[in-house]
Amino acid sequence: MTDENWHSNTHLVHAGTARTSNNETSEALFMTSGFVYENAEQAAASFRNETDNFVYSRYGNPTTLMLEKRLAKLEGAEICRATGSGMAAVFSALACQLSAGDRIVASRALFGACYAILNKILPKWGVEVVFVSGGDENEWEQALSIPTKIVFLETPSNPLLQIIDLECVCALAKKAGACVIVDNVFATPLYQKPLELGADIVTYSATKHIDGQGRLLAGAVLGNAEFMTEQFLPFYRQTGPTISAFNAWIMLKSLETLSVRVERQTQNAAAIASELEMHKNVKSVFYPGLPSHPNYEIAKRQMSGSGSIVAFEINGGRENAFAFLNALRVHLISNNLGDAKSLVTHPASTTHQNLSDHERALIGIKEGHLRISSGLEHKDDLIADILQALSHVS
Ligand SMILES: *Cc1c(COP(=O)(O)O)cnc(C)c1O
Repeated sequence: MTDENWHSNTHLVHAGTARTSNNETSEALFMTSGFVYENAEQAAASFRNETDNFVYSRYGNPTTLMLEKRLAKLEGAEICRATGSGMAAVFSALACQLSAGDRIVASRALFGACYAILNKILPKWGVEVVFVSGGDENEWEQALSIPTKIVFLETPSNPLLQIIDLECVCALAKKAGACVIVDNVFATPLYQKPLELGADIVTYSATKHIDGQGRLLAGAVLGNAEFMTEQFLPFYRQTGPTISAFNAWIMLKSLETLSVRVERQTQNAAAIASELEMHKNVKSVFYPGLPSHPNYEIAKRQMSGSGSIVAFEINGGRENAFAFLNALRVHLISNNLGDAKSLVTHPASTTHQNLSDHERALIGIKEGHLRISSGLEHKDDLIADILQALSHVS
């Protein structure tokens, strides 16, 4: 039983729970690939979609369904489908609606694998992809002046936390007839609701904050009933991007603590961003919660929290960036994010090393840029760690 009017923290603990006749407190884990029928007639009816029976775990599973209902409630979406990774979510949300000859407009500052799908894989299949600078309204307007099938974007972007005005881009996309897909990982479902701002589909890498404890890969696609049932579901059922029930169960338990974790991570990130901004060895700081962020006003309007990721440029380029990383004692060097452990990465040599120098320059990624994902450690220990590592930099 769930109440529409509950706050998201309450939905995170209760939404979607379907107890068995044992009345267990914690959600049950159904490790089963298939399901049996009482008789041949029931099997036949199930295959005609005339029953609520589960048929096969590639199509749906009772544990996975609890996760999907909880995520849908949190997002305010009609339907959610969970996937085996964030990339499975992004790829199936795109591929389920594309045909050769279609056109996509996307922001250029994207997670590396999303950029590769748009820049390398889809063009091979006859899909035209146009990239724009996400913060430039004129570029969006020009790119969307002709009919377009899909708009794909990420805000805040990886790694430099560029903010895209969702209401503005969604309105332009609507005029071009495009379906807007927002990769909402950095904001988390707690701090940004793209569907309320005009987007059609939201995707997550649940590997990040939603699990948030470094254990597994998972993803989710959320949208309205018409799109999810008519376009997404047939593709999902036949091509198999589904999540394992075991991972769905871990994710259900992760959701119970999501808001507590993200609130702490965000407090830590905000404190670190302010500290970095005052440091003489830091050239610039990128954090949506800082008034110095070029899109601070848009961030304030469309996000209810600033999130757990901070980027900054250290003076002295790659040499000092590496010296800083190697001096860290609490923060770990890792390209993951949203974890309980604080993680730092050097995008130019890791997550974005596949890009050409020209592509990196277009996004603005420099050799001195570092990205911090704040974890759950004590704020004072994190700040002390960053200050001592910055002191190793000349
Ligand atoms: C990590 C990430 C993905 C990909 O998710 P996986 O779970 O690693 O497949 C996609 N988009 C963004 C913004 C991400 O951070």
